[in-house]
Amino acid sequence: MKSDEFNSLVLGLAEFVRRDGRYPYPELLRHALNKLALEVTAVTYPRTLTGLLGLLEKPVKTWYPQRLLPKEFDSDFGLLYEGGLSEEASRYLYEELLEQGKIPEFATAATKQMAIENFSFKKILQSLQEVYNNDNDPERIQQEYVLLRRFLIENPYTTSAQLRKVFSKTRYIDTQEVGELYENCQVDELCWNCDRCGPLFKKYGKLRGIKPSACNDHRQNLPFIRQITWKQGLRRLKFGIHLRICLPGIPEMRLFKVLEELQSKYSDQLCAIHLYPGIDRYDLQLRFCDQSTWAVDIKDYRSPYNLAPKLTPLFGEGDLRYDESFYVIPIQLEFRLKAI
Ligand SMILES: [Zn+2]
Repeated sequence: MKSDEFNSLVLGLAEFVRRDGRYPYPELLRHALNKLALEVTAVTYPRTLTGLLGLLEKPVKTWYPQRLLPKEFDSDFGLLYEGGLSEEASRYLYEELLEQGKIPEFATAATKQMAIENFSFKKILQSLQEVYNNDNDPERIQQEYVLLRRFLIENPYTTSAQLRKVFSKTRYIDTQEVGELYENCQVDELCWNCDRCGPLFKKYGKLRGIKPSACNDHRQNLPFIRQITWKQGLRRLKFGIHLRICLPGIPEMRLFKVLEELQSKYSDQLCAIHLYPGIDRYDLQLRFCDQSTWAVDIKDYRSPYNLAPKLTPLFGEGDLRYDESFYVIPIQLEFRLKAI
């Protein structure tokens, strides 16, 4: 496959970044860089590591051989950004590689660990979907799924005590499995959260978010930036869950809340709104009082070219039947707030 070399480069860089760039460099990365040195012709291949890291921050389309570039990668982005994986490289890693099981056979334990972490949410989702289809208690299973999904979106930080409290009575969701979606914060660690993009990290003395192209102003005095007070058992969503569940979930919940307000105003027209119906077949189902139903799925994509191949008709059988279906693409928050 022509994208194998590119994939090895992304996986190798992910391991490299996880180790904070400490020597020795991951085998996967060395292998990928050796290949890269032979393939790159558009620019002079850097002779030093610093030069190479600089090149990897530049838009991929300016230096990577076009014929080896997978079409799923938005090549306006670089592979690295401020010493970490760029947001597009992170998205590609989790969505196109780990999620699809595209891990090279010779991947190291670190890569396999990332794949396992990424699979932890899918494992819960799949087991719920299975019982949903075979059990006589679908309403409860659906309720518990929505509880979990909302919890992950609305609580990027939590504590072991809160997890026990919220999930102690769930019949189909195990508290420990939810706990595995989080990692422990260090004792007395200064933790920050952005209401628009979730947990922040410090880089070069500044707070940084997971998706700088959409949310990059994280000055500590802004009203949507909050410091999380450290307490015993404080936990933060793991990176992959933050990226794949919490971040896209923020516009999903915002739209849901706007619709709830509309429903309370126009309850004679909009009868019900269901979140993640059928254990996540799509994001929102709107039932109108004239018996018509709309299905809505939110896709937070910057590039329509990357989104297009992912668009398929929404599932519409049984209770999920709909008359109209919509893919909704969130615009930048400032514009959205103006629109509301
Ligand atoms: Zn933010």
